[in-house]
Formats: sequence, C-alpha cells, structure tokens
Amino acid sequence: MRFSFILLGGGNSNRFNSYTPKQYHKIAGKTLVDISLKKIKQFKEIKTIIYVYNKKHKKHFKDTDLKGVKLIEGGKTRHESTYNALNYLIKKKKVGKVLIHDAARPNFSQKLIKSILVNSKKHKSVIPFLKIQDALKKKKKQKFVNLDRNKFFLTQTPQCFNLNQIFQLHKKLKKEYVDDDFSLLGSFNNIKFVRGEKRNFKVTDREDFNLLENFYNSKISIGIGFDVHRLVPGKILFLGGVKIPSNLGTLGHSDGDPVLHSVIDAILGACNMGDIGEKFSDKNKKYKNIRSPELIKNVISEVKKQNYAISNIDINIITETPKLKKFKKKISKNIADLCEISSNWINIKAKTTEKLGVIGQEKAIASEVVVSVVKYD
Ligand code: ZN
Repeated sequence: MRFSFILLGGGNSNRFNSYTPKQYHKIAGKTLVDISLKKIKQFKEIKTIIYVYNKKHKKHFKDTDLKGVKLIEGGKTRHESTYNALNYLIKKKKVGKVLIHDAARPNFSQKLIKSILVNSKKHKSVIPFLKIQDALKKKKKQKFVNLDRNKFFLTQTPQCFNLNQIFQLHKKLKKEYVDDDFSLLGSFNNIKFVRGEKRNFKVTDREDFNLLENFYNSKISIGIGFDVHRLVPGKILFLGGVKIPSNLGTLGHSDGDPVLHSVIDAILGACNMGDIGEKFSDKNKKYKNIRSPELIKNVISEVKKQNYAISNIDINIITETPKLKKFKKKISKNIADLCEISSNWINIKAKTTEKLGVIGQEKAIASEVVVSVVKYD
C-alpha cells in the first residue's frame, strides 16, 4: 500500500495573537511543523509528504527542516488548501491512501500513525476519535438542554482516506465550511474508528502551547561526556573537528579529538545508548584512523532513528596550550553542522588548570560536555 501525507499549515492562526504564526513557534528548538514532519519521515510506507503553507509565512521556513517535502501554496480556506494538495497528488498520478493532518496538532504519537496505516489496509477510511468526558449542554435561548454525551464524539487528525475518493469529494464541495475531511464522507460506510489521543490536542491558544511545552519538558534527558588525550610534538591537533594550528597534537586512536569524543559520549549518555568505546571499539580495524566527524555523523543518524533530537550542548575544553579564544566560533559552527542543530545552542568554554597537573604541564588536553536531548515520539 502506498501512502501520501498532507500536512496543513496554511492557517492564519488569528487566535494566537503573536508575530510568529503558531505553526512556526518552537518547542525545544523545533517548530510545530518540524515536530510533525520529523515523526512522519520515519515511516517508509509514506512515499510523498506535502506541506501546505500560507504564502505570508515563507520567511519562517528557515527554521524548519523541509528536506524531502513537497511545498504547496494553500488557499483561503482549509478546504481550498486540502484541495490544492490533493489535486497535486492526482495530477502526479499518485494512487493508494492519503493521510490529512493539521499542523496545529504536532503531538500525535508514532503509535497512532502505525495504527492508522495498519487499519487502512482493511478499511477505506480511518478516523481517530475521542469520547467526550465532560458534561455536554446546548444553548436554547435563555435556557439550556442537557445532552447525552455518549451520542457524541470528537474527531482528530491525521485522517486516512482513499486518495481518489477524498479528491472527488473535495472537488464537488461548494463553499461550505468544514472542520475536517471526515465531514465530507457523510456516512459510516467502511470507516474504521481508532482511538485518538488526548496528547494529540489542537494547539489553538497560549494555554495549549504551555501544555505542549510541559509535555516536551518531561521528555528531556541529559548526558555527560569526558575525554582526555596526551599532547605530543609532531601530531595534528583536531578540536571539535577543526584543525587547530599548534606545536603539539593529540596522540590517540582515530584522530584523537577529545572534544568530539566527549560530545559523542554525552549524546550516547543522554539517549541511554552506551559509550563511544562500545560503539567504535579500537580493536575494530574499521575504525583505525577514522576521523571523529565520521563517528559523530554515525551516532547522530542512530539517535535520529530513535526519535531523539539534540537540544543543547555545553562544552569545556581544558588545556594550557594553544589559546582557543579565536577558534571557538569555528568549532561551535562545525559541531552544529555535525549535530544538525543551530550553533546558538552550542556553548564553548576554554579553561586552563592554572599550570597544575598534567594539563598544566602541557602534556594533555581534556574536554567535558553536557548534552540535553528531547525525544519526539
Ligand atoms: Zn578520545
């Protein structure tokens, strides 16, 4: 079964009352659009991902990873935006199923997506729903009527449809307002309802945003890394993957870069994935003289697969020589590129040991690192 995914981010977010539209607000360094896309990209069955945007918001794209995502300009309404994306898929002769999702709901779990994909094999449409838990009333002039909440239910997105069917329904739709695409089906025929998620709420106002922030704050974990290498004449000195002019260089397996080694250990620690020695054993010939940037790229790709994203990195480089002040920016930029985060989230401090001990005698260089990561799942 082939799946396409449409992420609807074309809304104006009028109720949010802020310069940055809500879909581009950041939680732990990632925009809401980013958080949805990150999770969707993990599903190999989803062959095409479309992001429908509002042309007024283009300046916010720089904060979002849109690699591998087809961008489609949205229309005036949710219906028009959805139609534009469906029309693209039909024109490209795509077949199979399509999931349609609101960018204002970034907090669905991957488990929900899995359940939708599996159920869509036997059913034409799959709709996540929630029962109503609060008491339900209806206004009637100056009075109100109590309603039986068991007769009502709430629908969420992503909703999954047969691509051609939902395209035809949108094509026929006149100017009516619809909150979701399920509204267009009109009957319960061949629909599978799967349990929605309370965490998959729609971010509408500040309070929702705070809830989302709290959710991700509980998903932050911290790791610590430490490494030390001997300093000897006639060797090259790499720090954070940057070649530093120096009379002394590091002795070590691989390129002996204590900064990248301690960053790797801190990342592995935060993600509960062991340590650098276990992952890249110095007994394995494969890693003989391998450059540390290759090691860290390998680690980043693995933690990404586990849905972790690095939030910030704090580094102490402890050495008497050379002086590092003028290299800090370059090192930070290089580590940012390797870790796929903004260099604003990397802090480097160059320290000495006041001429004390082996570091003070210029016989060694050390690095210690603390990393925080967020799990998006
Ligand atoms: Zn090392």
